[in-house]
Amino acid sequence: RKWVYLFHEGSAKQKSLLGGKGANLAEMTNAGLPVPPGFTITTEACNQYYQDGRVISDEIIEQMKKSLNVLEEKTGKQFGNPDNPLLVSVRSGAVFSMPGMMDTVLNLGLNDETVSGLARLTNNPRFAYDSYRRFIQMFGDVVMGVEHYHFEKIIQAKKAQRGVKSDPELTAEDWQDVITKFKAVIFQQTQTAFSESPIEQLLQAVTAVFRSWHNHRAKIYRNIHKIPDHLGTAVNVQLMVFGNMGDDCGTGVAFTRNPSTGENYLYGEFLLNAQGEDVVAGVRTPEPIAQLAEKMPDIFEQFQQIAQKLELHYLDMQDIEFTVERGTLYILQTRNGKRTAEAAVKIAVDMVGESFINKEEAILRIDPDQLDQLLHPRLDPDAKLEVVTKGLPASPGAASGEIVFHADDAEKLAGKGKAVILVRPETTPEDIHGILAAKGILTSRGGMTSHAAVVARGMGKACICGCEQLKIDLRSKEVKVGGYVFHEGDLITIDGSTGRVIQGKVPLIDPVLSPEFTELLSWADEIRKMKVRTNADNPEDSRKAREFGAEGIGLCRTEHMFMELNRIPIVQKMILAETGDERNEALAELLPMQREDFVGILEAMDGLPVNIRLLDPPLHEFLPNLEELLVELTKLQMTPDADRLEMIRKEALIRKVRALQEFNPMLGHRGCRLGLIYPEIYAMQTQAIFEAAIDCLQRNVPVEIEIMIPLVGHVKELTEMRRLVEQIGSEIEKSSGLKIPYTVGTMIEVPRAALTADQIAEEADFFSFGTNDLTQTTFGFSRDDAEGKFLHAYVDNKILPENPFVSIDLDGVGKLIEMGVTLGREKKADLKTGICGEHGGEKRSIEFCHKIGLDYVSCSPFRVPLARLSAAQAVI
Ligand code: PEP
Ligand code: MG
Repeated sequence: RKWVYLFHEGSAKQKSLLGGKGANLAEMTNAGLPVPPGFTITTEACNQYYQDGRVISDEIIEQMKKSLNVLEEKTGKQFGNPDNPLLVSVRSGAVFSMPGMMDTVLNLGLNDETVSGLARLTNNPRFAYDSYRRFIQMFGDVVMGVEHYHFEKIIQAKKAQRGVKSDPELTAEDWQDVITKFKAVIFQQTQTAFSESPIEQLLQAVTAVFRSWHNHRAKIYRNIHKIPDHLGTAVNVQLMVFGNMGDDCGTGVAFTRNPSTGENYLYGEFLLNAQGEDVVAGVRTPEPIAQLAEKMPDIFEQFQQIAQKLELHYLDMQDIEFTVERGTLYILQTRNGKRTAEAAVKIAVDMVGESFINKEEAILRIDPDQLDQLLHPRLDPDAKLEVVTKGLPASPGAASGEIVFHADDAEKLAGKGKAVILVRPETTPEDIHGILAAKGILTSRGGMTSHAAVVARGMGKACICGCEQLKIDLRSKEVKVGGYVFHEGDLITIDGSTGRVIQGKVPLIDPVLSPEFTELLSWADEIRKMKVRTNADNPEDSRKAREFGAEGIGLCRTEHMFMELNRIPIVQKMILAETGDERNEALAELLPMQREDFVGILEAMDGLPVNIRLLDPPLHEFLPNLEELLVELTKLQMTPDADRLEMIRKEALIRKVRALQEFNPMLGHRGCRLGLIYPEIYAMQTQAIFEAAIDCLQRNVPVEIEIMIPLVGHVKELTEMRRLVEQIGSEIEKSSGLKIPYTVGTMIEVPRAALTADQIAEEADFFSFGTNDLTQTTFGFSRDDAEGKFLHAYVDNKILPENPFVSIDLDGVGKLIEMGVTLGREKKADLKTGICGEHGGEKRSIEFCHKIGLDYVSCSPFRVPLARLSAAQAVI
């Protein structure tokens, strides 16, 4: 088998074999771009390495050596030859880009002899020994597992001894001394000597890259981004070119369009006299790419042309790494650039305008999950801001929270429900769990392409980088800036769109849709077959959802109207009533309130269908907490002159609360079971709905009402409730002289409903799949407890591919839904079907809903744009 490919032997099509980076290097080489030569060891070799019990087979080694010989011939350089040493970089390259998650070794091939050769050849001993120590440092860290700080300590000590502040001030002799100490510390830490044999170094480095596929941070990254574990990584071995040989050298990263806003101009960063890792690792803050135009106009011109060519070739925004060695430009890497949602939308829409791609392709390019970012809050423009400093606007959106300085603390506090902002000098890939947990990231070092920036953008978190005025002391957990001192736990706000760091908590406001976003969604609307509705139970949410393009309400949960503070006492009075009269009195008080709610919602939806669900939760949810009541009673009992009557009332209340208590409230007296036992409650709600409809109709506000009966499991439950609704309907129609446009249907949210959907369809005008309860009842997982108790472990251990409360379990719950639709439509061809559980706003579930032919999905207002896009993607 062929395990190793020279760059010119591969092609872009072999991404799964050569990894993303290897495939691109092959493609660029074949396109005649100035790519330093090299070869790629395949992902299959990585998997073979694991199959063989973590050893690289002789056959693979043989092929590597052969390719190395070709490389030597091509470059005229030789491994280990002090007169003209071949130096290479060794980098991981997975099929899906995982920036910074796996290991890289640069300057491989240096040893005590070749370093002096390099010094002679470049006439620059300082550069040569600096490269050598960088190599030992990286090799020691990545390959031999010696912690980074051992090396940093040695460098710090050297600088202190020489009385200098920065690395470039150290001389060749200084570095030679550092190198000796580096080797000593490696031996001391590992009991193994640093290898002077280049081929041995290469084998060790390749092994380390293979190994890094299974390191902690790579695994977390794959989990977050749903990248399968079995893919393995390729390894790219490439001739080193040097951006740090002097002032006619440099290195940079550039995007063909602005990755934050999507604007169409070359956007990037450049560092004179530096090596690429300085930029990517965020150790030095680079200059804007305009620097390159100023310092090396010819190279800039050439680079710009190559960038355009690459974009045209890949028909997507490119993220290009380049190096200038002694006035010669080299392209080290290109890939489709990571971008914010805002940029993704703008680039996709612009590229349709530029005839790069068509509308369907533009729609497919946007990950619906990413849209969340665009719907992220912004700072209230009217808020008074105390801006303490500014950094680079690395990832848009605003966030407020308590300062934390360590990723572990971020995770801990976020776990307790706190909003935190992770503040660090720079983030490294080891901080990924903290970035995940935090609302926002703030760093004092690193540019727009540093890890913090790239990772935060991918996750849609607010992030500010390179905020150099911050003096961060990790030990005392304190950050100073200007006259301010902040400690752990202090509140700050960051605005990732402008880079402003603000003291305290700032009010945030809802986002608005950009013209490009609106346009893209209008294309999606032309394509999609399903309608998109929203779950809303007040006029304000209804209006918001319509702004986002909702085409009706798919679920109005009426219990939220009962929970309002001034209504709770009346609701409690209704529940606690001892006689029918008492109950009716309370219901009569609630009636006008409910009617008013419905009028507001119907007006906001202006004739679009409004699906209103009658009361669903168990009644005890509206009553005070039993333990608190008991405490209050005890207090009363211990007060000598307590009000006797008050005490009797309390005792009665406690009796009632106890009576309503259930062992399994979610399986208890709720849904239509309430309506069956207390028909007067459903009657009052129905009356309020119909009177609201009449009120609207009389003012020429059109209405379309769907009355939904929850938790039906047996058709007779629905028959009864339907009769109740229709009776009230006909009374109100008679007395008003108006016809109310309404239908009656049910939720399908217990398995029996899906299994007997043909019977239920006889009584239902529509089905709405309540997938929250349907998931709960199908799995027998409590939706309130499972996620916190065991479901995360199920997902971590891959017992379940996903949390079924987030993405529909296709094999089980999905099968029930499909059965429900089929059986229902067999009986009633024009049965309207939709989904209103949380899954209605999740892309894979939406795709499924389209596939089985639902008429609509319904989701929370902020997810409506996502659902419009997903529904279109499902068609394409
Ligand atoms: C459902 O069960 O999916 C549903 C939408 O209803 P609720 O979440 O209110 O129980
Ligand atoms: Mg439900």
